[in-house]
Amino acid sequence: MSDYHLHLYPHRRGESTPPPPEEIPLSHIERYVTAAAERGVHELAFTEHLFRCVESAEALGPFWEQAADPVTRGHTEADVRADRTMSLERYVEAILGAKDAGLPVLLGLEVDFVPGTVESVLELIAPYPWDVLIGSVHWIEGWWFDRRHSIHEWERRGHRRVYEQYFALETALADSGTVDVLAHVDRIKYQGQRLAEPPLDLYEGLVKAARRADVAIELSSAGLRHPIAEAYPAPPLLEMCRVAGLDITFASDGHLPEQAGWGHDEIRRLARDAGYTHTARFRARKRDLVPIIPPRG
Ligand SMILES: [Zn+2]
Ligand SMILES: [Zn+2]
Repeated sequence: MSDYHLHLYPHRRGESTPPPPEEIPLSHIERYVTAAAERGVHELAFTEHLFRCVESAEALGPFWEQAADPVTRGHTEADVRADRTMSLERYVEAILGAKDAGLPVLLGLEVDFVPGTVESVLELIAPYPWDVLIGSVHWIEGWWFDRRHSIHEWERRGHRRVYEQYFALETALADSGTVDVLAHVDRIKYQGQRLAEPPLDLYEGLVKAARRADVAIELSSAGLRHPIAEAYPAPPLLEMCRVAGLDITFASDGHLPEQAGWGHDEIRRLARDAGYTHTARFRARKRDLVPIIPPRG
C-alpha cells in the first residue's frame, strides 16, 4: 500500500526552531521508507508544501493581505515567513536522488491553493517531473483556519458561512484542473468545529466538481491526530465519493519519519467500509488502480 502525502520537516512557526538544512540527506528519506514498511506501506509520495519553498513567494503573492482582520493577517504572514525556508530546487533534487538510489518514493507536491495564482503556480512548477500533485486549501481569504491563534474568525464569520467559504474554495481548486488529488477535503473541521448536521449540500457540490475534473480524493489518517479525531474525509463524504466513482489515495500527512504510514490500518478499514476495493497509484501524473490489501489486526 502507499502513503501519498508526506513532508520532510515539521512546520516552523515563529523563530524558535531551526530551519531545515539546505541539503536533504538520503538517510533522512530512508527513515521514512523504513517506518512506513513496518506498517505495511511500501510506496511513498513526498508532497512538500509549495508555500514552504522560497521560490513560491512571487507566484503566491502576499495572500495574507486578503484578511480583513489585522490580527488574523499578522498571524498568517508571520507563519508563512517563518516556514518559507526550503528550496524547491533542492527538494526536487533530493527526492529524484532517492528515486535514483532505488528507494520506493515518488516526486509529489502539495499545491497550496490561492485563488488567482493558478497560472503563475503552474508556470513555476512546470519544469519538474512530478509523479503526483495534490491540492489543498489552508487559507480562506488570508485566514489560516486550522491554527488556534486565529480561531476568533469562526465567530466573526459564523460557522455555516465558514463551511460555505471553505467548500467554495475546494470546489474552485477541483475546477482549476491543477492537481491530481484533493488533499484533506474537509480540513475545515480540523479544530473540532462541526455543524449540527453534516453539510451534505456542500459535499455534493465538491463531489460533482471532483467528478468533472476527474481528480482523486485523499483518505487521510491525519485527522485522527488532530483535535477533530476523525479521518479526512468524514464517512458520509467518503461514501458520496465512492458512489460518484471517485478514486482515492491513502495519506498520513506525516511531517516526521516516524509518521510515515501512520494510521493506515484504520484508513484501509474506513475505505472498505465505504465500499472501496482499490486505491489510485500515480506515475508521472498517470493513474492506475491497485487492490486494497486488507488491514492488519
Ligand atoms: Zn495540507
Ligand atoms: Zn500536508
